[in-house]
Amino acid sequence: MRNHFLPFHVPTIGEEEVQEVVATLRSGWLTTGPRVKQFEQEFAHYIGCQQAVAVNSGTAALHLALEAVGIAEGDEVLLPTMTFTATAEVVTYLKARPVLLDCQPDTLNLDPEQIERALTPKTRAIIPVHMGGRPCEMDRILDIARHYRLKVIEDAAHALPARYCDRMVGTIGDITCFSFYATKTITTGEGGMATTDNPEWAERMRIMSLHGISKDAWKRYTAEGSWYYEVLFPGYKYNLTDLAAAIGIHQLRKCEHFWNVRQRYAALYHEGLQDVAELTLPPLPPAGQQHAWHLYIVQLHVEQLRITRNQFITLLKERQIGTSVHFIPLHLHPYYRDTLGYRAADFPQASAAFERIVSLPLYPQMTEADVTYVIDTVRSLVRHYRR
Ligand SMILES: *Cc1c(COP(=O)(O)O)cnc(C)c1O
Repeated sequence: MRNHFLPFHVPTIGEEEVQEVVATLRSGWLTTGPRVKQFEQEFAHYIGCQQAVAVNSGTAALHLALEAVGIAEGDEVLLPTMTFTATAEVVTYLKARPVLLDCQPDTLNLDPEQIERALTPKTRAIIPVHMGGRPCEMDRILDIARHYRLKVIEDAAHALPARYCDRMVGTIGDITCFSFYATKTITTGEGGMATTDNPEWAERMRIMSLHGISKDAWKRYTAEGSWYYEVLFPGYKYNLTDLAAAIGIHQLRKCEHFWNVRQRYAALYHEGLQDVAELTLPPLPPAGQQHAWHLYIVQLHVEQLRITRNQFITLLKERQIGTSVHFIPLHLHPYYRDTLGYRAADFPQASAAFERIVSLPLYPQMTEADVTYVIDTVRSLVRHYRR
């Protein structure tokens, strides 16, 4: 057994990021400024979208996106139960109601079949979450959305870089929200980005991200700026700092390289585990699609094993492997269960998947030997505990 712990995630921060942060500190401009503008432009160019609005979290991006498209009190917003609480909590910020949808058993993405039966006259939007970086069935989701005039806000916190029908995620729905949280595929420590081709929504998100102050508020401390500003709306404090953007600029340049490594490691997991009958592996994406491979979620056939998922996680930890669970479905959390009145039986697929899912470590800081060690350890545990 190895003698050092393999964490579930370690970010890859190079000397370029370090030097850029130091240069930012020395520049005298710490908060939103030239590096945020540069990060936005380079991000928009990479994605191939018209507008990219940088904010201080993925959650902030989701909140601003829903606000920009006009979600308001009493509206209903469809979203998967298999997601992080951020996807749903932003709906409640606007006094709207999250309506949860069950997932597909294999991809864990929201099941498009569930959309129409969840619609009511109050349904205004849908938030597909590309679980682990695998694109949702966007054609079907967009068709239904067009038919019922729903806005599509994608939660792409896991989906950088991902492609659907050869289009980059970030150019598909009405607004797409990315996260640069420490564990995501690229990071700024904390940060997020909203992309859209609609200049009005972009402008609304920019204004609301900085106190609802009139255009280019951050420029008021530059030579070309003015002390004068007007508050147009009661906005929020969601602006990204130049310190964070300094990290993001270099992370973005490495995004393809990071993906290549993750894609190679995902292939190694697939090869190394595909013959294990007690496991369901994440399905490979169809032709024309790119899985971002943010997460590698395996499902344990617990009925064929003498241990539970939780025991499996503990045994991996004893063998120096950090794992995680993505996610505890929202309907099982006290807040959503009690306020929305859901039961486990309302979401049979997500409830069943929750007992089976384990996210294995997958990030460029791992070595190929680390991946092999995880494969060997998973195989030997399954062999030892199979019924
Ligand atoms: C990480 C995450 C978010 C929120 O991102 P933050 O940047 O942490 O606010 C939203 N949705 C999903 C599915 C996530 O995993």
